[in-house]
Amino acid sequence: MCAVVVLLAACGKKEPGGRATHLDFAAYGDCRHQTDIHQKIATNIAAAGAAFVLVSGDLVDAPDDPQAWVEFRGAAKDLLKRPYYCAPGDHDTGSKNLYQKEFGLERMYYDKVEGDCHLFILDSGGSFEDADQMAWLEKTAAASTSKHKIAVFHHPPFGIQGRRVGQADGIRPKIHPQLVKLKFCGAICGHQHAFYTTLREGVRYVVTAGGGASLYNIDPSLGIDGDQSRKFFHFVGFQKTGSRIDARVYDVDGLEDESLAFKFCEHP
Ligand SMILES: [Zn+2]
Ligand SMILES: [Zn+2]
Repeated sequence: MCAVVVLLAACGKKEPGGRATHLDFAAYGDCRHQTDIHQKIATNIAAAGAAFVLVSGDLVDAPDDPQAWVEFRGAAKDLLKRPYYCAPGDHDTGSKNLYQKEFGLERMYYDKVEGDCHLFILDSGGSFEDADQMAWLEKTAAASTSKHKIAVFHHPPFGIQGRRVGQADGIRPKIHPQLVKLKFCGAICGHQHAFYTTLREGVRYVVTAGGGASLYNIDPSLGIDGDQSRKFFHFVGFQKTGSRIDARVYDVDGLEDESLAFKFCEHP
């Protein structure tokens, strides 16, 4: 190994060639439909060393079919060996509660501290109109002493997928002002099958919904200056440096699209 590679590795930076490596954590989602793509993404995230994974939901097509969960487990097996924090998507929940059983959940929303990150896994299925969840979020996040507060939920409050802009408009007033007030660093979302990131009033939103489900057309003109987006199968890798978290976006083979790199958050 040449000195440059050793130096880059020691700094936690990517190796020449743009392959995902030395990740602190990663995010992906909407991995139903194409198991082979899901499996490749899972393998590449695991190989890049992510300590935990944030998942934006929609893991299966048929939530009441036990075989769908067998296939999910097979595709995600490299990732399920580490903490796997998934928010429920609209395709995950059925009458048999197999999603809850898969992850041993008594409640669809919960929090977890991983190092200096306080993670809030939220249930957006009711468009954040349930008073219990919102009261819990406010109380728990306000009491948090962690440097980074990160939310994970399925339905994004901002998006550039024409057909689902109305849905984002509907959910936004319920959750965005809360995340601003509670000083969240950002949120990991899914549902709009592509990659999209936008910074709104200090909150960084990352829509990562390219884990294997059929991709949707996106319209960057629906966003704002500074947004980044691309319709492709992908995952997002995060690296912490001091009080800052940087994010890079990788294709299904684990190779970076350098044009999509962004700062997730930075603190004084
Ligand atoms: Zn932060
Ligand atoms: Zn969805």
